[in-house]
Amino acid sequence: MRHSTTYLLGRATTPGAAEIRQFLSRNGVPFQWVDVEHDPLVGLLQGVPHLEDRRYPLALFSDGSTLEGPERFMRTRYVRATPTGAPSPVPPEDERAYAETAAFKQQLAERVGLPTRPARESYDVVVVGAGPAGLTAALYGASEGHSTLVVEAIAPGGQAGTSARIENYPGFPDGVSGAELAESIYAQAVRLGAEVLIGAELLTAAPTDHGTFQVELTGGSVIEGRSSVAATGVHYRRLEAPGVDEFLGAGVHYGSAPGEAVRLKGSDVVVVGGGNSAGQAALHLADHARTVTVVIRAPSLDRGMSTYLVERIARNPRIAVRTSSQVAEVRGDSSMRSATLRSGDERTEELAADAMFLLIGAQPVTAGVEGWLRRDSHGFLLTGQDVVADGSREAWWRLDRDPYPLESSQPGVFVAGDLRHGSIKRVASAVGEGAMAISLIRQYLALGRPG
Ligand SMILES: Cc1cc2nc3c(=O)[nH]c(=O)nc-3n(C[C@H](O)[C@H](O)[C@H](O)COP(=O)(O)OP(=O)(O)OC[C@H]3O[C@@H](n4cnc5c(N)ncnc54)[C@H](O)[C@@H]3O)c2cc1C
Repeated sequence: MRHSTTYLLGRATTPGAAEIRQFLSRNGVPFQWVDVEHDPLVGLLQGVPHLEDRRYPLALFSDGSTLEGPERFMRTRYVRATPTGAPSPVPPEDERAYAETAAFKQQLAERVGLPTRPARESYDVVVVGAGPAGLTAALYGASEGHSTLVVEAIAPGGQAGTSARIENYPGFPDGVSGAELAESIYAQAVRLGAEVLIGAELLTAAPTDHGTFQVELTGGSVIEGRSSVAATGVHYRRLEAPGVDEFLGAGVHYGSAPGEAVRLKGSDVVVVGGGNSAGQAALHLADHARTVTVVIRAPSLDRGMSTYLVERIARNPRIAVRTSSQVAEVRGDSSMRSATLRSGDERTEELAADAMFLLIGAQPVTAGVEGWLRRDSHGFLLTGQDVVADGSREAWWRLDRDPYPLESSQPGVFVAGDLRHGSIKRVASAVGEGAMAISLIRQYLALGRPG
């Protein structure tokens, strides 16, 4: 039950604080952020023993109990791709930090009343990821009468849920906010009978010897699926420059971080990236910030951005574009204060900046399945004929029939949306693939256990 406010305590520089604020606000959980260095309320709390010794972000619940953040906040672990698509090893300390962070999120989700535990032990369809692809697969799975579970680590809607306005989704001539679209598909999926877990995360998954899949979730739940849809999408690529990691969450954000824009009234903001998501973020931020500087490596914006966005940016007096440039350093004190830009001719300039949003390309999220599903050299999952192309059928496919379209190298595991090799990276195509995956699963389940 979500009745009472949760307090979230931390400093501006606390790693993970911005992510947790977004996690709560995207899921409609009422909470109050308390900056322990600047909030006057903290003066009243000085008498509370050991407040300074606690690990932030710290959640304080209405019954007085608390939940401390992980030792090292790590939102995801990147399983880098090698030229053959094989995973490169993740350092054990990163594995540990990722598992602790996921456990913290699951416990927080559970305490604030989000559904993190499955109702059953086995399902016809287990969907991993509740972006547009996963939510649509859930909607179609449930409406076809399959018992369907969706597991979502952060919030329904995925990347699309963070978009201020989606202009090219059919049926919305004036555009639709990502949050509104996500909420509608989510409500429709639940109404048709899909079960959606939020704040729970797939940790590992593996085939069983009786043709099903076993999936282990944060919080210790283990479930079995007769089939699965992998729809875990992509995460933004990291920017390697001094100060970026230090001010992560304290001014520096990956993605468009929608909840943060309203906090930036009158601020100077930098957006790094030249794709449509960067263009949309810049326009949305310009509604609140004093100035927005878009930084791109390319000599012009039209290389990677749709014309309508390029034109709107050009007309917006608050937005400046710095072409052939990159961020060389981020500086600040308790939070970010400036970004140093380096231009093509090696000249540098320090811009005052209270926040920086990095939208610089994406990496597929394959944590938990990278060992057994075939990936391309960038880590995207191969499906259909791509699985058996280039003479690798022997190594990657064991049935007499060919893989169905969208079927991964594991019979019964289908891939939909941005995670798939060759996908279009649009909401409409993710939705289409989610629906298509279920129709193929219907055929797969009708055939019975694969031989
Ligand atoms: C700011 C922004 C603006 C955009 N604007 C547009 C636009 O205007 N038009 C358009 O067509 N496209 C737009 N896009 C692209 C579009 O949002 C994506 O193509 C689409 O969301 C892809 O959907 P998906 O379901 O494949 O993956 P995603 O949306 O990436 O969803 C994947 C989900 O999986 C979850 N997940 C990941 N790992 C796990 C795990 N281990 N366990 C459980 N859950 C997990 C993630 O939390 C996420 O919610 C935009 C993207 C961004 C970031």
